[in-house]
Amino acid sequence: MPDTPRRGTRIAHIGIAVESLRSLLPLYRDVLGMPEVPLDDADGARIAGLAAGESLVELLEAASPESPIGKFIARRGPGIHHVCFAVDDLDDALDRCRTAGLRLIDEKPRIGAEGKRIAFLHPSATGGVLVELSDP
Ligand code: ZN
Repeated sequence: MPDTPRRGTRIAHIGIAVESLRSLLPLYRDVLGMPEVPLDDADGARIAGLAAGESLVELLEAASPESPIGKFIARRGPGIHHVCFAVDDLDDALDRCRTAGLRLIDEKPRIGAEGKRIAFLHPSATGGVLVELSDP
């Protein structure tokens, strides 16, 4: 990313698994006052994005019970699903994770809901938190 100023690692979004977008979106948008941001669906989830300063909250509703969010809710119930950190250089960050011996879910970056390249680290490598890394 030669034209992007280096900003350091920061929270890009927090993904929250919900049973129903319809029932929870009004809380975040209307009661908490977070503007809605259009996002693509991804990984078998319908996604509602809400701006919280420079970060987003992503409400993730399973499109089917077999999707990752569907399985997560069946196993653990609704709640925080993952945290996404934007890094200055995703390829470099993944190389550092590999060198540190961390288990990766995505060996290579792929395109996420915001149209940016992303990659997930396995929660067993990160203290039980599913961590997503993304391009700036
Ligand atoms: Zn995410």
